[in-house]
Amino acid sequence: MVKVMVNDKIMDRSEAVIDIEDRGYQFGDGVYEVIRIYDGVMFTGDEHLERFYSSAEKIQITVPFQKEELLDLMNQLIKENNVKDGSVYMQLTRGASPRNHVFPSKDIKPVLTAYTKEVARPVESLENGVAAMIADDIRWLRCDIKSLNLLPNLLAKQAATEQGCYEAILHRDGLVTEGSSSNAYIVVDGKIKTHPATNLILNGITRQVLARICQNNNIPFVEEAFTLDELRNADEIFVTSTTSEVMPVVKLDGTEVGDGNPGELTRKLQTLFVEEFESVKKAHSL
Ligand SMILES: *Cc1c(COP(=O)(O)O)cnc(C)c1O
Repeated sequence: MVKVMVNDKIMDRSEAVIDIEDRGYQFGDGVYEVIRIYDGVMFTGDEHLERFYSSAEKIQITVPFQKEELLDLMNQLIKENNVKDGSVYMQLTRGASPRNHVFPSKDIKPVLTAYTKEVARPVESLENGVAAMIADDIRWLRCDIKSLNLLPNLLAKQAATEQGCYEAILHRDGLVTEGSSSNAYIVVDGKIKTHPATNLILNGITRQVLARICQNNNIPFVEEAFTLDELRNADEIFVTSTTSEVMPVVKLDGTEVGDGNPGELTRKLQTLFVEEFESVKKAHSL
């Protein structure tokens, strides 16, 4: 039986109960994280938890656990479910109380839920690349918060899927922000360009790992917004996320990117990224 977590209790999924007036359910009033598990070990768990606390703080929810406790709980859940390659999803809502836009009183406790699942690495797509489309970024101005409110992201992803695309790359007035559930990058003349970590994008942990990798390997990583024209004329395009890793985009709005194959620098970054999580796995097994 698959186990889930509600607050600090691990239980069978069928035993988990969420109040119908939970503010996450009624308003999307909460935040979440998705953490990758490679070979039973969380990858960049600390960074994800750091962002979880930061997202919660930005909407004035206090996480009812210390970071160490929460990390322990996640590790327990991963162990209970015997996850090898997969992910852990966790969310925190402002809790349950009669529906009212105003925050409930302080004695209403936030509700933490978490579950794990097995997810294979998307090896075929990583190898061959994926198609993407361009879409308007119709989100709010606090995209730096990993909030449960994902309607604009869902609409963009659905439109992409209906066009046979893996991802929608979003833009505001002609400037590319990010993907619907990923960060977006172009490669021009051996330089990587991506939107700076402002309120207009979610600063991905994968993005931060990539920035570090680039710094360590003397690969120019420029945090500067780029235009749709630059996107359409880029040598290479890729997107990153916890589950997509470094995903080559080989087709944009039906037109091939470069020669239609994953680019050279994108490939190099993929290799360096795999080395990164392999070294974490290895360090853990010592
Ligand atoms: C989660 C997310 C990302 C990717 O972040 P990672 O930490 O790398 O998984 C990018 N954009 C949006 C909108 C996201 O929700």
